[in-house]
Amino acid sequence: MQTWSTTEVPKVPGVPRPLRLYDTAAAEIRPLAPGRTAGMYVCGITPYDATHLGHAATYLAFDLVHRQWLDNGHQVHYVQNVTDVDDPLLERAARDRDDWVVLGMRETALFREDMEALRVLPPRELVGAVETVPEIVEAVSKLLAGGAAYRVDDATYPDVYFDHTASGRFGYESHYDEPTMARLFAERGGDPHREGKRHPLDALLWRMARPGEPSWESELGAGRPGWHVECTAIALGRLGDGFDLQGGGSDLVFPHHEYSAAHAEALTGRHPFARHYVHAGMIGLDGEKMSKSRGNLVFVSRLRADRVDPAAIRLALLSGHYRTDRPWSDDLLGAASARLARWREAVARPAGPDAADTVARLRDHLSDDLDTPAALTAVDAWSGQALTGGGVQSAPGLVRDAVDALLGIRL
Ligand code: ZN
Repeated sequence: MQTWSTTEVPKVPGVPRPLRLYDTAAAEIRPLAPGRTAGMYVCGITPYDATHLGHAATYLAFDLVHRQWLDNGHQVHYVQNVTDVDDPLLERAARDRDDWVVLGMRETALFREDMEALRVLPPRELVGAVETVPEIVEAVSKLLAGGAAYRVDDATYPDVYFDHTASGRFGYESHYDEPTMARLFAERGGDPHREGKRHPLDALLWRMARPGEPSWESELGAGRPGWHVECTAIALGRLGDGFDLQGGGSDLVFPHHEYSAAHAEALTGRHPFARHYVHAGMIGLDGEKMSKSRGNLVFVSRLRADRVDPAAIRLALLSGHYRTDRPWSDDLLGAASARLARWREAVARPAGPDAADTVARLRDHLSDDLDTPAALTAVDAWSGQALTGGGVQSAPGLVRDAVDALLGIRL
């Protein structure tokens, strides 16, 4: 499907730093080692509601990864999916007496606008589940043929499930014990009590058509895909296996990323699916995680409608470390707006203190597991000095370009 518009990324003089990131599977910060083209797959939205700040924080984290790779001279093959058919979308459409296709298109369009406003560089490929049904069917058929999947013992709806032990490595990504897996599987869209399954942790691959539900004719019988295998098929089809990074919010550590990896590894017989599994923390409001079920969402589009500068939203979200769960508040936004105004005032000066060291610090901090709080402090220090006057004429332009290229903030 159509992605969103890109923005120019200035080239920044000086020496780039190779990126190191925390890998959930390895449970440590370690270097990525992309080739000429870095491959990144980030799990996208289910378009039944507008983009909230939790989503925005996740896509901003991976936008910074994208920008550090560009700074290091890599091409970036970035793939993101849109889960444009799934239970939450169908349930919301039914609740609101809306057409699920129209709802999905409307919310996807709003998501593109929000990403553009936040200056998130677009993925090279934004891929819908619906448009990839034939690829998903092929993957599920192969898993069935290879004995990694089976049909439940149900004459009416012989849905296809994945034998979670089929890859032989289940659990390597999350490292969760079985009680934790069982709890999260049930909480996050799994169906442990589906009758006819061989094991409660086996995950849905293909759901046979029910009356009133959308379905696609296929060699598996009319039906629709499960969620995890959608990402498996989309990623393998575009990036192959062993690509550099799979990313998403920390609520995707399990089950989603564990299963998409297990499906892929059972399919290809190769390990790993992704070489780094990277997860962004959750954004909270009034002491609770921002989530649809709690109804405590702050939407990017709402803030934009209230004339909040998207650069201030971006700066507010980047003021905390991407891996930490952190609260959103009006104070946080206020502080980011004040910081943005200070930075803009500083780069508008005809001269400023020599900025080569500031740019080097910016790169050091960002290459160190995206340490944005420290990176922002480095820009604060330069701005504070610049506002006292004097210095070299090229410095404000250099800081403006570095903040634009590496942090995605246009001053
Ligand atoms: Zn995914």
